Amino acid sequence: MTVCFIGAGPGDPDLVTMRGLSRIREADIIVYAGSLVNPALLEHARRGAEVLDSASMTLEQVTDVYRRHAAEPGLIARLHTGDPSIYGAVQEQIDFCRGAGISIEVVPGVSSVSAAAAALEQELTLPGISQTVILSRAAGRTPVPAGEDLVRVAATGSTLALFLSVQRMGEVAETLMTALPADTPVAVVYRASWPEQTILRGTLSTIAAGVREAGIDRQAVVIVGRVLAGAYERSRLYDPGFSHGFRRGSVTGAEGEVGRAGGDDGGKDDADGVGEDADARGREDR
Ligand code: SAH
Repeated sequence: MTVCFIGAGPGDPDLVTMRGLSRIREADIIVYAGSLVNPALLEHARRGAEVLDSASMTLEQVTDVYRRHAAEPGLIARLHTGDPSIYGAVQEQIDFCRGAGISIEVVPGVSSVSAAAAALEQELTLPGISQTVILSRAAGRTPVPAGEDLVRVAATGSTLALFLSVQRMGEVAETLMTALPADTPVAVVYRASWPEQTILRGTLSTIAAGVREAGIDRQAVVIVGRVLAGAYERSRLYDPGFSHGFRRGSVTGAEGEVGRAGGDDGGKDDADGVGEDADARGREDR
């Protein structure tokens, strides 16, 4: 058996990769995180595939499935929400497989942070505002290491994308306000890409009340930062004065900016040569 860890995307079944989908189709066994992975993806399972919901299983029960089938040919598809590399609880499974001599594959997925940004129709890295995104979380049952506490993280002025944190929105906003102005914009995206997707906008001083009123206490990404405020410099990548490997500039950049790419468009950003689960309901508090 090969165990394939698949990023199942944020919810909408269209947002799984083609590779992820083809692994789902060929799998003999599918283990999926029932609370966040859209069961619609299971409609692609081949007839006769065994389908298990990991929401009610322990790590040992899941790895036991891998162990029992290790010697057989075929594929186990392990579906995790979003992208497996972000709060995915996959490393322990990967390491188990390595230790047991079971071959593995990891297929990336569309993280809920990407789906949240898409829902907001918002770039998270705007020239002159922020060129850094920090994915973080409030401490829960899983502590956050000293040095990564939200005050320090916020003090960088970077765009923040907070997972597993909306249930502590009041506390989180209070903490962030010790490092950032109270009018710093915040957007909360609940169930991004699902039919019930909800967007709340506010500031650090207002967002907790909005979240409380809307009754949102899980499955939301909290985006914090001035990128949400609207003012920014235009991207230098598409500036007429900016030459790069794919286009010669026709105007000299006003401040001699030619050759300093501020934007990113997959592959073109280096063009100047100087050159980017919470498994189960109730387990969000981790
Ligand atoms: N690996 C996942 C994150 C798992 S941790 C990913 O890449 O998205 C679970 C947290 O992800 C939730 O607390 C919430 O913060 C976020 N999340 C997962 N799906 C979401 C969705 N559809 N909309 C908003 N947030 C989501």
